[in-house]
Amino acid sequence: MSAEKTFLGHPRGLATLFFTEMWERFSYYGMRAILILFMTTETAQQGLGLDVETSAAVYGLYTAAVYLLSLPGGWLADNVFGQQKSIWYGGILIMIGHLVLAIPGSQEIFFLGLAFVAIGTGFLKPNISSIVGDLYGDDKGAKRDAGFSIFYMGINIGSLLGQTVVSFLGEKVDWHMGFGAAAVGMFLGLVQYRLSLGTLKGIGEKPEKKVKLPGERTSNTFTYALVIGSILLIALLQYLKVVDVTTAPGIAEITGYLIVGITLAYFANIFISGGLNTQERKQVFVIFLLFIGAAIFWAGFEQAGSTLNLFSRDYTDRFIFGYELPAGVLQNFNPFFIIVLSPVFGAIWIRLSARQMNPHTPVKFGIGLIFMALGFLVMYFAALIAATGAKAGMGWLIFTYMLHTTGELTLSPVGLSATTKLAPRKYYSQMMGIWFVATALGNLIAGLFAGGFDPNDASQVPDLFLSVVYLGVGAGIVFLVLSGFMKKWMGEVK
Ligand code: GLU
Ligand code: ASP
Repeated sequence: MSAEKTFLGHPRGLATLFFTEMWERFSYYGMRAILILFMTTETAQQGLGLDVETSAAVYGLYTAAVYLLSLPGGWLADNVFGQQKSIWYGGILIMIGHLVLAIPGSQEIFFLGLAFVAIGTGFLKPNISSIVGDLYGDDKGAKRDAGFSIFYMGINIGSLLGQTVVSFLGEKVDWHMGFGAAAVGMFLGLVQYRLSLGTLKGIGEKPEKKVKLPGERTSNTFTYALVIGSILLIALLQYLKVVDVTTAPGIAEITGYLIVGITLAYFANIFISGGLNTQERKQVFVIFLLFIGAAIFWAGFEQAGSTLNLFSRDYTDRFIFGYELPAGVLQNFNPFFIIVLSPVFGAIWIRLSARQMNPHTPVKFGIGLIFMALGFLVMYFAALIAATGAKAGMGWLIFTYMLHTTGELTLSPVGLSATTKLAPRKYYSQMMGIWFVATALGNLIAGLFAGGFDPNDASQVPDLFLSVVYLGVGAGIVFLVLSGFMKKWMGEVK
């Protein structure tokens, strides 16, 4: 045994990745906490002066892009740059993006800043998680899971700090100072990363140039068909006036249709010509169902930065001892509850496992979706108060975040791991990508929902929240009903 230093009993490299990701999430969630508020604030108050519908669509497109770009980001790391450099370049792009946002200026400059952050995150986010996995080599067991739990804590500590600092600076002092603080956070992350790179011991230094497994790549014909099909779909929807691709909400909608269409085509293609046996087909079908469940869950959950943030600003009494808290600060209750409740949930699953009672993945999905819906049921009552013209207390949002965090802890950790375990070997990395696509779709829908939010008249808000309740409860019940079948289809995977 070497007497090497460890980080909470884990390889030292975990500390490097923990702090880098902590600062990156500081900047991401910090900036996101004020994004929709800044966009919808009048230019007279130094905001961007966009209407809610447009701002909500930009919010959805930006947050979806962040996750969609992790697909090329992961691919480029594997084939061209290696993970270490991808994280470094990604961090630099993110920092530049926040610096651009820190310059007060035109809408064009603002969108340019968002594009930098989205591209940078696409490089950084998937690759930092995959190095965490690589630290543990072939160990697929509890140690590795514990490593990921610690890493998840880093994410949420970063989010908590970022949403606090950026909300106070951005909302109370100057929007651009808030964006600048996000840049400073990413800068600290970069310095820390650079100084402690050695602890990674060469992991991710070079591209893996993964050997192409038979069937790993989808065929060219399929790719061409997808591209042509997408163009035709856009043209058709524009012609039928279903969407208007010259506006931000139209682009967001068409992006949603494209993500759904391409995902359906992708699964259909694997089913028909993916060379799968019957058991593999069943497992891929389960992944498809998990994709739908995850997308619906995130569509509700990620409204933290859109609808719920607007509700916090416009319809919540945020005074505490005579001082009004910034609106974005209330989102902190999600990372706060993650930090507090993660150990509790960990203990619950272990206890239940010991009694062979740990619910399997489809049941956890059902429960997670229902908790998401319950959170919106709470918001429905809060909105009824707002609709009378009074302001709702902060307790409503806090309770909602507690329910949403419970849902997140039930659904999210098992989602990605079940997806990868169910994936036939040759589709392994593609199926990991599918999980990110579900997150992207959810974020996009979370933005579109906020388009129906009126900051000056709360009378429609209860119905808006109620529609999310129906969606979540409906999907949750479907998962619970199907869970028996799904369990069988999953074969050995739990
Ligand atoms: N909130 C977590 C993060 O930012 C998880 C997001 C997800 O898996 O979609 O890393
Ligand atoms: N809970 C989110 C992610 O885990 C972070 C956030 O939304 O603040 O980790």
